[in-house]
Amino acid sequence: MNFQPLDLAAPGIAGLRPYIPGKPISELERELGITGSIKLASNENPLGPSPKALAAAEAALGELARYPDGGGFELRAALAAKHGVDRNRITLGNGSNDVLDMIARVFLHPCVETVMSEHAFAVYPISSQAVGATVRIAPAKDHGHDLDAMRERVGEHTRVVWVANPNNPTGTWVTSERLHGFLKSLPEHVIAVVDEAYVEYVDAPEYPDASQWLDELPNLIVTRTFSKAYGLAALRVGYALSSPAIADLLNRVRQPFNVNSVALAAALAALDDPEHVRRAVELNRQGMAQLIDGLRARGLGFIPSVGNFLAVDLGQPAGPIDQALLREGVITRPIGNYGLPNHLRVTIGLPEENARFLAALKKVLGR
Ligand code: PMP
Repeated sequence: MNFQPLDLAAPGIAGLRPYIPGKPISELERELGITGSIKLASNENPLGPSPKALAAAEAALGELARYPDGGGFELRAALAAKHGVDRNRITLGNGSNDVLDMIARVFLHPCVETVMSEHAFAVYPISSQAVGATVRIAPAKDHGHDLDAMRERVGEHTRVVWVANPNNPTGTWVTSERLHGFLKSLPEHVIAVVDEAYVEYVDAPEYPDASQWLDELPNLIVTRTFSKAYGLAALRVGYALSSPAIADLLNRVRQPFNVNSVALAAALAALDDPEHVRRAVELNRQGMAQLIDGLRARGLGFIPSVGNFLAVDLGQPAGPIDQALLREGVITRPIGNYGLPNHLRVTIGLPEENARFLAALKKVLGR
């Protein structure tokens, strides 16, 4: 019998490639038999979480035998207060990735289309194709989202458009005026997702917090995460802000207990330590300047970024350079799978990590 499980898979699955995560330090060290390597590959927070979050996580360990609060009452209440909205506008996810996936499952299917930008975050096409929707990709402009090109691809069968603001892996962003105009121009049968995973890092006067438009735009979903500036990536907590009606639909496909109790407790405590987030953002600002200085000194270009990472233009295929950096114990991320074969995405780390990356790059490139 020639059993081919792919023949049985849902229509979108054959064309899917798995999400490529950053290489874990333990994997690299196992493979190369080295120690002391650093990871600047997954846009993680080099400061780690707030001590308050760590203490809350530890305290929650005593209740591991019990299911978590499936409704996430306390965390949703705290998020509602933070955003000045009603609790029924908040949907919790096992990372914001989970929320993005719920959006695809609720609004996309094989008879409809979805619109996103070239170089946009990889989960949008994966979640969309998995449910069989047709993905329409608008060409990027200066590596960023071209909202006009995206709007042109919205038609009667479009159900979801995705805007990463800022985008990963490019760090590009769209202004308040342009985003608002784009969102207002969308027909009523289109859900607009604005993914603000890196919102805390952005320091640009024209940058919008899209949640301010929730009342005006009933088709808007804004997603946020505790994985980046809050330093809780391992615990997987994210959320969506939307109309109560959309939140109700997302909750219909949400897995029961999708956010675990340690994560709920840590995220709640993290909200109570805004000073920690400020420290992380300041460290990022300095690290970004350090990296930019170092890259300029080597004559290397990069895509201007408002996130906690930088896509460096190596002017040659990034794959072999990435391999050579790995041998130096430095894990970064080549982004050929994002249509940027000469770029290497590096996460802003601690000052000594940034220096080590720059030194390794110099050694590998010979300049
Ligand atoms: N959106 C963007 C733009 C991201 O870069 C990421 C993380 N790589 C996510 C969403 C998902 O992050 P998480 O599931 O950890 O919240």
